[in-house]
Formats: sequence, C-alpha cells, structure tokens
Amino acid sequence: MEKVSVAIIGAGVVGLAIAAELSKKHKDIVLVEKESSFGQETSSRNSEIIHAGIYYEKDSLKAKLCVEGRDLLYAFCLENKIPHKKLGKLIIALDENEHKQLESLKGKAENNGVNDLIWLNSHQIKDYEPSVDGYSALFSPSTGIVDSHSLMKCLEQKAEMNGVMISYGSKVTAIEQVSDGYRVEINHEYSFVTGKLINSAGLFADKIAEIAGIDVKQKKYKLYYCKGEYFSYDKPSFINHLVYPVPEQDLKGLGVHSVVDLGGLLKFGPNAFYVDELNYDVNISHRKNFYDSIKKMFPQIQEQDLSPDQSGIRPKLSGPGQGIRDFVINEDLPGFINLIGIESPGLTASLGVGRYVADLV
Ligand SMILES: Cc1cc2nc3c(=O)[nH]c(=O)nc-3n(C[C@H](O)[C@H](O)[C@H](O)COP(=O)(O)OP(=O)(O)OC[C@H]3O[C@@H](n4cnc5c(N)ncnc54)[C@H](O)[C@@H]3O)c2cc1C
Repeated sequence: MEKVSVAIIGAGVVGLAIAAELSKKHKDIVLVEKESSFGQETSSRNSEIIHAGIYYEKDSLKAKLCVEGRDLLYAFCLENKIPHKKLGKLIIALDENEHKQLESLKGKAENNGVNDLIWLNSHQIKDYEPSVDGYSALFSPSTGIVDSHSLMKCLEQKAEMNGVMISYGSKVTAIEQVSDGYRVEINHEYSFVTGKLINSAGLFADKIAEIAGIDVKQKKYKLYYCKGEYFSYDKPSFINHLVYPVPEQDLKGLGVHSVVDLGGLLKFGPNAFYVDELNYDVNISHRKNFYDSIKKMFPQIQEQDLSPDQSGIRPKLSGPGQGIRDFVINEDLPGFINLIGIESPGLTASLGVGRYVADLV
C-alpha cells in the first residue's frame, strides 16, 4: 500500500494554503479533493473581501489569523501579481444607537491590533461616498478585495511546484487509525497510508472527523449550515468603497453590505439564515427583505434593480441562537489535525492558517 508523510483533505483556499506552506519544508504530501478542481465550494462562493480584523473576539484564532493572514495576503498578492485592491470600507451607523455600537466595535478592533480606523461624520461620509446616507461611519483603509480564483490557482501551482501531489475526483470515504498513521480510503476503491492527516474539508469537516472516530457530539464539532445569498445591482455601480451596516449582534453574518468586484460590478449580500441542505439557489422572495435592509444606506436603489446572484454556505459551529464560536484548529488524535468551522474570515486568514497548521505539523 502506498505511504505518504502528510495528506490534506480538501482543496479549498485553506487546504491549498496549507499544502503550499507545508511543502516548503516537507516532502511526500498528498492533497485529496472530491471535486474535479479546486475551490468548488465555499472558497468560490463568498464576498472575496480581505477583512481588516475588526469584528472578532480578542485573542481568538479568528482575530489573530485574520490580522496575520491579511498582511500575508496583501504581500502574497503583490509578489505573485494576484488581482486585488485595497478599496477601504465604510461601516455606517444610521442613528445614535448604532453610533454607540460602532464605538464598541472600534474598541474591539483596537484590541485586535486594528488601529487605522477613522471616524467620519455624516458630511464626511459624503466625501467618500456621495450617494450613501449615514449618521456616522468608521472607515477601514486596510479592507480590500481579492480575486479568489487567481489566489487559489497560484497556491495550487506553488504546491505542485514543491512536489505536492494533488488528486482531484478523490473523495475520502473512510479513515482508519493504523500503527504508523492513518489509512485513508478514496472513493470506496483504494486506500493509502499517511503519517499525518489534515482535515480541511470545509462544510464536511465534521463528517470527516466523525469517520476518523472522533466523538463529534462530545467535542461540539457538529456543523450548522448558514446560507448567504447575494443580489446583483443591474445598473452601473455608484460606489467606490465597500459599504457595510453595523454588524448583527450574534455575528451570524456581518449584515447585508455592498460588494464591488475587481471588474467594478456591484452586488449586495450576503444575508444569513440556517438551512438543512446544501442548495445554492437564490430565493427571489427574499429580495424585499434584502431591499428593506439596504435602502436606508443606499436611498437611490429600487427593489427592481436587484437580481438574484450567487449564494454560499457558511460552515458554522454555532446553531441558531447559540452565539459565536471560534475556528477550531486542533490535533485531536496523534497526527490528525482538524480544521472545523472555518467560516469568515477564512479566505482572509488562509495564509495565516497555512502557517499555523505547518507549525502544528
Ligand atoms: C456567503 C459567504 C461569504 C464569505 N465572505 C468572505 C469574505 O468576504 N472574506 C473572507 O475572508 N471569508 C469569507 N467567507 C469565508 C470563506 O469563504 C471560507 O472561510 C473559506 O472559503 C473556507 O475555505 P476552506 O478551504 O476551509 O473550505 P472549502 O472552500 O469549502 O473547501 C473544502 C474542500 O473540501 C472538499 N471536501 C469535502 N469533503 C471531502 C471529502 N470527503 N473528500 C475530499 N474532499 C472533500 C470540498 O469539496 C471542498 O473543495 C465567506 C463565506 C461565505 C459562505
């Protein structure tokens, strides 16, 4: 039976970042992915925003890896000519109550080392975004956007150049602990043994942990699916920055915000609601709610200007009403590392996660 030193499950942006980082020092690495190419799930169904690190609890992995990953990502994009733009973002308070929430958000950001936020009053908002209404705002200059496909392509190439064998169409169907590591079965057809095994399976990471014999219930690793839909704006974009509302209290999502892609197209999203199955349809009947949540910030938009666009699904460790959970990155069995609940800011944090996991290995 074939034997490798490290196997990584999942070629999303996180699995690819781990492969690229690990392959700088290790040999005999395999990356197995059930789909026919990389990034077919959450990594290509998101807002493509490079987050500054504002929202996360002090000392959490989300905070640490977002801030570290953001800096690594900007540098990586420059070095490898990956399309990206430090657009900057405004978080808009619509009234005095929301202004107070922004004050505590600023404190939270500073605890995470994000010290570049700038206060704007309602007139100054107009200097940045003439068409946006607000009572006050925080401007984050270090928030940006990135072409996630180019990022993943580059990580794939770097990993392959360093000798990583990437096997697409390879679904992990069983895992068994053996004397010298783990026996990993692929497509119920064949298997190989790996010394170390890294579970970066995104929406299926809890299932992978379970088949490896981990008590998912006891560890609280069950994933809840929280869908986010986007609606595109059918007319030319009228904004230059990312524009966000004050975030939802439970951080289920960051609130429906504007997303400008690198081609200048404008869309709004994502909303956030729990679902039982993976279905990426966008429900047109959600448009009214969507419109209601953005019209105060963007008074010039009409409901009929919005058309269903893409959707993505967050792999959340907390179910409805359960509050916020941090990323789990843990060696739960000797040589078996689980990454569970890698929701936002997983794209931003990906290179930081790659380094973190490489240190664990
Ligand atoms: C709506 C939405 C908006 C978001 N916006 C942002 C944002 O703006 N900025 C940001 O930083 N983050 C954002 N995120 C989060 C970010 O997209 C994710 O954190 C990141 O993409 C997770 O990457 P991943 O590699 O862990 O998971 P995935 O991309 O899901 O990759 C996991 C891979 O594992 C594979 N796999 C699963 N099971 C198996 C198996 N049995 N065998 C083999 N392979 C398997 C899957 O096919 C998949 O390719 C957003 C997420 C959502 C849903």
